[in-house]
Amino acid sequence: MAYCRKMEKNMDKTDFKWQADRFDDIKVLRYQVPGFEKLTLRQKKLAYYLSEAALCGRDILFDQNFKYNLRIRKVLEAVYKEYKGDRSVPEFAAFEKYLKKVWFANGIHHHYSNEKFQPEFSENYFRELVGAVPSLQHEKEDVLGLIPVLFDKELYALRVSQEQEGDMVVASANNYYEGVTQCEVEQFYGSMLSPDDREPVSVGLNSKLVKEDGKLKEKVWKVGGMYSPAIEKIVYWLEKAVEAAENDRQKAVIEALVDYYRSGDLKEFDRYNILWVADTESFVDFLNGFIETYGDPMGYKASWEATVNFKNEEATRRTEIISANAQWFEDHSPIDVQYRKKKVKGVSAKVITMVQLGGDCYPATPIGINLPNSDWIRKEYGSKSVTIQNITSAYAHASEGDGFMEEFILREEDKELLKTYGVLADDLHTDLHECLGHGSGQLAPGIKGDELKNYASPLEEARADLFALYFIGDAKMMELGIVPNMEVMKASYNKTMFNGLIGQLTRIEYGKDIVQAHMRDRQLIAAWCYEKGKADNVVEIVKKDGKSYVVVNDYERLRGLFGELLKEIQRIKSEGDFEAGKNLIETYGVKVNRVIHKEVLERYAALDLAPYSGFINPVLVPVFDRQGEMTDVKIEYPENYMEQMLGYSENYSFL
Ligand code: ZN
Repeated sequence: MAYCRKMEKNMDKTDFKWQADRFDDIKVLRYQVPGFEKLTLRQKKLAYYLSEAALCGRDILFDQNFKYNLRIRKVLEAVYKEYKGDRSVPEFAAFEKYLKKVWFANGIHHHYSNEKFQPEFSENYFRELVGAVPSLQHEKEDVLGLIPVLFDKELYALRVSQEQEGDMVVASANNYYEGVTQCEVEQFYGSMLSPDDREPVSVGLNSKLVKEDGKLKEKVWKVGGMYSPAIEKIVYWLEKAVEAAENDRQKAVIEALVDYYRSGDLKEFDRYNILWVADTESFVDFLNGFIETYGDPMGYKASWEATVNFKNEEATRRTEIISANAQWFEDHSPIDVQYRKKKVKGVSAKVITMVQLGGDCYPATPIGINLPNSDWIRKEYGSKSVTIQNITSAYAHASEGDGFMEEFILREEDKELLKTYGVLADDLHTDLHECLGHGSGQLAPGIKGDELKNYASPLEEARADLFALYFIGDAKMMELGIVPNMEVMKASYNKTMFNGLIGQLTRIEYGKDIVQAHMRDRQLIAAWCYEKGKADNVVEIVKKDGKSYVVVNDYERLRGLFGELLKEIQRIKSEGDFEAGKNLIETYGVKVNRVIHKEVLERYAALDLAPYSGFINPVLVPVFDRQGEMTDVKIEYPENYMEQMLGYSENYSFL
């Protein structure tokens, strides 16, 4: 494995500029697409058409995140392009920074914390800007009406509210519901779920629920429905992609997706997913649709996202070994026997090279993906799982020598472990999390899978993480030739405990609780294991010169604790034990240790790093001959974040 990584490193041009921009708590990176040139012309065409389709839904996500997002973005862009006043004053810089943040978050709420951005320029300055922009004059009063939306702290404060005490639907600023209460949503969709989980359980996934004339009504996102102008463009490019498909199976996949976009019928979406899971042959692959439900506190509505990628054959050998042994892992999982899957189906896993990111995968992007989400399809047909190596590689390059490790890791040997095995430990964690973790285990009879409500996401992520952690420490890893030694486990465990107890606190504002599902999951795991192992000093928080460090003293015992927690969370999922799940998350995953938090933020601030990153996309440029035939597709790597965003708004604005 270390060998593959070295080979890939050699391919990276040494003068490649990994960071494109830096503002607020964000750094914008670039990624390379090694191997694109070696694709066949047909594959390049396919990647090009799918990439266009991936860019056409950008406006949908803006609108899903908040009903005024598109309006606001257009106003900000008009100001940015047309304002003739002094751009060298601090207030204009604050305005520009705000616009960069809005692009990055696909709206005016932070992509991770969900909180509304507070502009660092004044209301009066905003009035002045709007007053000086010719194209806004005919609608000036309307535009100024946006002032409370932008500046009033209390108004639309959170994109997603997880506040149990209140009405989560009403308190969330997202645009998935209008004029309806949480109670009404629960009744509306609760009655649609079928008692056996054979029918599509993904109810409500592709619509906005509104109340009109006192009646609840779904506005479906489809051709001829809500978001039609953008979806029509997506369909246009998908239909071109059908012509360039690598084989009949892939052709059928894309056609099914088009049928779904046309009909808005979720049964068609299931049919598409079933075909997509079965297509493991095609070299180029993609996602395009309403997929993840993190943006809806009720877990019904999915945000639009898209990716285009192709297989990294070299690195895929690692995941193939893991997949081929899926049943062994399931049989040895430390969970109750009745919740193990008797027969693990179709865990297909590969390492991919990303070509294009769109919608909710852009600019901030996942490093691993496991789909489809529908439990019944996973059970009957399996799932497809990927690790995105050119993205993890870009992260690693961009953070080299930034001083983070030196500041936060105490023992020299741990720093060495991280340097030598950090990336492999991460990739392997992602492989196991995605190819096996999410797909493992089964529900008890009669359990539908929606019982854990807003605790479902963090618990599910914790379950997949724990599965990965438990097996990274298994001697089987060496036996299978996946790791060279058990030092990889140490690197992985050090990272996990550090991140969950200290590292991720750098991304939370002082005084705030943890809201995001993956962060809740990570702290739950680390804090639970820290507490359970405290009597035996399994993991220690060492104080030195007024600084706190996380040190793992007993790796084997820690592995045992990961196994114990995995067993409990699997039980919670299998039995739909809402109270126990809630209790775990609320006890370990939400509240932050204020003393350590303050200290960590100060140390982190001194390093002057950005806690969040995302990417600008490469550009696929088709080459045509005199007859208008596409003869090649070139790949270019732009360097300017603002230009890419303005270009997208110019060329891919359909709503
Ligand atoms: Zn996951």
